[in-house]
Amino acid sequence: LPRTVSGIQATSDSLHLGNYIGALQQFVTHQESHDAFYFIANMHAITVEQDPHELRERTLRTAAQFIAAGLDPEKSTIFVQSQVPAHPRLSWVLECTTSMGEATRMTQFKDKSAKQGHVSLGLLTYPALMAADILLYNPQMVPVGEDQRQHLELTRNLAERFNHRFGQTFVVPEAQILKTTAKIYDLQNPEAKMSKSLPSPAGRIDLLDEPKALTKKIKSAVTDDGTEIRYDPEEKPGVSNLLTVYSSLTGRPIDDIVADYEGKMYGHLKVDLAEVVVETLAPIRERTLELLEDRAQLQAILDRAAEKANGIAEVTLREVYDKVGFI
Ligand code: ATP
Ligand code: MG
Repeated sequence: LPRTVSGIQATSDSLHLGNYIGALQQFVTHQESHDAFYFIANMHAITVEQDPHELRERTLRTAAQFIAAGLDPEKSTIFVQSQVPAHPRLSWVLECTTSMGEATRMTQFKDKSAKQGHVSLGLLTYPALMAADILLYNPQMVPVGEDQRQHLELTRNLAERFNHRFGQTFVVPEAQILKTTAKIYDLQNPEAKMSKSLPSPAGRIDLLDEPKALTKKIKSAVTDDGTEIRYDPEEKPGVSNLLTVYSSLTGRPIDDIVADYEGKMYGHLKVDLAEVVVETLAPIRERTLELLEDRAQLQAILDRAAEKANGIAEVTLREVYDKVGFI
């Protein structure tokens, strides 16, 4: 089987609809056709300040949401980044392969550092760790959201650079970024991507929101001038975002949905969408809470997966260390 790798940061109690549509839904699809490795990025999480108790809790909660959303631990290797020490060990080599200019050009670094009072060095070297997360497993394909395109491009460059200098070592992976669903926008600000680290949760649909809260957030979503329901991200970013969500949760083409709402008001679309979102997320929420009641079992799944990930990652790391001349 071809291999795939991807991760999600443990930076909040709940994942959001952007993570679900941009990343998790893809993870679930690809576990059927790939040797799949999905990890909870707790090392990336501490690039911005985290409370230790919360980080531990969020790591388990994220794992539970992976499984509740449809990842099967028998098919997918679901592991925690810090349990595989080859990640930071390869990261160091890749940091030394990356130029300062490349790192400081990354838009995620620019965006996140602008919002932080204290900017950690880890926030700058984040993309090297991400490259290590990926390259250790030699995957053909990496499913991510649009915001990670630039980091994936750097990962490919680093793989090629290393291969060129030290001989064929890494597979150069393809990013898998879906055209319409790779960027879900904040419901209160359709110019900004939905994000875990956003200060206000009003525009963010969390997987673990209660049905009432989901409905309220969708009904109060910012829409656009005019009344016509059509897909036009330039002129109608708010409505287009709602249509994208509708389409990806139901599997129906956007055009079909638009045709259904000809002559109807934004309110109609919102009422129906709220129903679709609740139907999708309520079972995920329930399953997550159930899984969190047996933490020992959850931890056992993660431990077993870490063992498997370590086995593969260690082989790649050893080859790299040998090639760069470490004794
Ligand atoms: P943070 O704000 O802490 O960076 P995040 O919401 O950006 O959190 P990440 O853990 O950084 O989430 O990203 C996990 C995955 O989800 C990545 O593949 C990322 O591209 C994808 N993703 C994040 N936000 C969105 C979004 N709004 N739409 C689609 N995909 C998204
Ligand atoms: Mg992010």
